Amino acid sequence: DTTSRSFKLCDLKKNVEHFPLCMKFQYENLEKKHHLKHFSRVQYGLFLKGLGLSLEEALKMWKTEFTKKMSERCFQKEYSYFFKHQYGTVGSKIKYKAQCCDTILEQSVPSGFVHGCPFKHWDASVLSVRLREDDVCDEDVRKILGLKQREQYRAACTTYFQSVCGCKLDDVIDHPVKYYDKSCSSIVD
Ligand code: SF4
Repeated sequence: DTTSRSFKLCDLKKNVEHFPLCMKFQYENLEKKHHLKHFSRVQYGLFLKGLGLSLEEALKMWKTEFTKKMSERCFQKEYSYFFKHQYGTVGSKIKYKAQCCDTILEQSVPSGFVHGCPFKHWDASVLSVRLREDDVCDEDVRKILGLKQREQYRAACTTYFQSVCGCKLDDVIDHPVKYYDKSCSSIVD
C-alpha cells in the first residue's frame, strides 16, 4: 500500500543494493539505455510504486532518463499517460499493485527484452557471470544454478539473497517488495 510507506527518489541510488536482481537489472538498464520497454515499465514502475515512490517523483525519474534520448514533448505525449495510469490517476483508475514473483515468473521474455526474473529467464551462463560479479561464492553459485535447473526460481533468489545480504531467511522469496524490506532490515539487525 503506497499510502502507508514512502520512498524518496533521492534515496534510489543508495537503495538499489537492496533491490532483488530482477529490479536491479531494470535500474541498470534504465540508467544505461535511458529507456525501458513496456513490460519493464510495468514491472519496475509498479515495484517502485510498491516501495512508496510518489507519482510526482516517478514521473520525474522516468522523464529525467527518457529525455536524455527524446524531447520532453515526446515524453509527455507518448509516456506520461502510462505512468499516471499506473498510479490510477487517469483512465480506468485501477489501483495496480506491485507484481509478485509468480506473476513475473509467468511472463515470456523474448530476446532483446529485460523484464522478467533472472533466475528463470536468463541463460545459466549469463546468470553465472552476474552472480560472480555480485560476489556470490562458488558454492552458492552452484546451488543457485542447480535450483534454476530444477525450476525452483524463488529458492534460487532466496539463496542469492542469503549470499549477498549475509543472513538467513526463514521463508522463500515470493515478492520483490518483500525482498527489498528483508534486505533493508538485514543491515539493521
Ligand atoms: Fe525478482 Fe522474484 Fe525473481 Fe527474485 S524470484 S529475482 S524477487 S521475480
